Amino acid sequence: MTSTTGTDAPSAETGGPVSLAGASAFPDSIAVTPGADGKKVLLAAPRGYCAGVDRAVDAVEKALELYGAPVYVRKEIVHNKFVVETLTKRGAVFVSEADEVPEGARVVFSAHGVSPAVHAQAAARNLATIDATCPLVTKVHKEAVRFASGDYDILLIGHDGHEEVEGTHGEAPEHIQVVGGPDEVDKVEVRDPDKVIWLSQTTLSVDETMQTVELLRQRFPNLQDPPSDDICYATQNRQVAVKKLAPDADVMIVVGSANSSNSVRLVEVALDAGAGTAYRVDKAEDLDPAWLEGATTVGLSSGASVPEILVREVLERLNALGFTGVEEVRTTTEDIMFTLPKNLRADLKAAGHEVDHPKRSRARQA
Ligand code: SF4
Repeated sequence: MTSTTGTDAPSAETGGPVSLAGASAFPDSIAVTPGADGKKVLLAAPRGYCAGVDRAVDAVEKALELYGAPVYVRKEIVHNKFVVETLTKRGAVFVSEADEVPEGARVVFSAHGVSPAVHAQAAARNLATIDATCPLVTKVHKEAVRFASGDYDILLIGHDGHEEVEGTHGEAPEHIQVVGGPDEVDKVEVRDPDKVIWLSQTTLSVDETMQTVELLRQRFPNLQDPPSDDICYATQNRQVAVKKLAPDADVMIVVGSANSSNSVRLVEVALDAGAGTAYRVDKAEDLDPAWLEGATTVGLSSGASVPEILVREVLERLNALGFTGVEEVRTTTEDIMFTLPKNLRADLKAAGHEVDHPKRSRARQA
């Protein structure tokens, strides 16, 4: 098989001279090769980095470049171990709460978003903030504020304790109740069954969310839908691609961290769609060859917070284990890019820095 990473490719092991932003330092597509003995990998596309993750990681990298280390980051900037470890080596300091940041220092808020209480906490400590909340999460916050001001009961479908859900819930705690899934529908209580709307976390399983909504609607027939999809384009696209290839996969491997909601959902989606078995790995070394015994086709995808370098290394490992064919299963092409947070862009421009990642510039010119 043609090498999938190339000889001069950076390595996840070394942390390499690679920018974590811009999806990867690799070309957009992987060479498709026939397997000599019929053993092959079905590679999902789209996979990996979404526009919100790319922007958040780029924001930390650019902040380090412009202001120098340390740059504090509240929570993991995105839910990926490799990204967090790499940024830590470069001078980012990850903290759990804004009150751990020294007074007057600079802090980046993660892609998952924060509640107004966190903004207030940062202001009270005189922190310079860079808000890397994904614009698609901000959209859900705005919906929550809008429907709370209309005095609706808001049923927020999502995982209690997940940072994104905490942030959205914090916009209007007196109006929002979190519904974890179909099992929790029975305990929902509302003030007026004719004034209820559901919203959701951006990274859920589309199918399970719709089951929850159906059950909620049986209880509250006048339940309103969100003005537009809350489950984001990237989550949906990765699930669609996995659903397409899963029925043909004896084993499905999803690259992503355990706390990455959309990565964990991809494992569930693969199993529901007919994959023989499905596993999540953080990196190539986590892949147990015993999982592949008797398999001829392996499906491979990655969550929205996973740099492509990690997928390439899993592919190399599968290649070494005899899965020498690669076939891409593409269901759509993505070209969404988000601009950097406004205040960071302004500071970069003032300092004469290049404001956009080349890929981001290309997307805007297109
Ligand atoms: Fe934004 Fe979706 Fe990516 Fe989350 S998964 S950062 S909502 S694009």
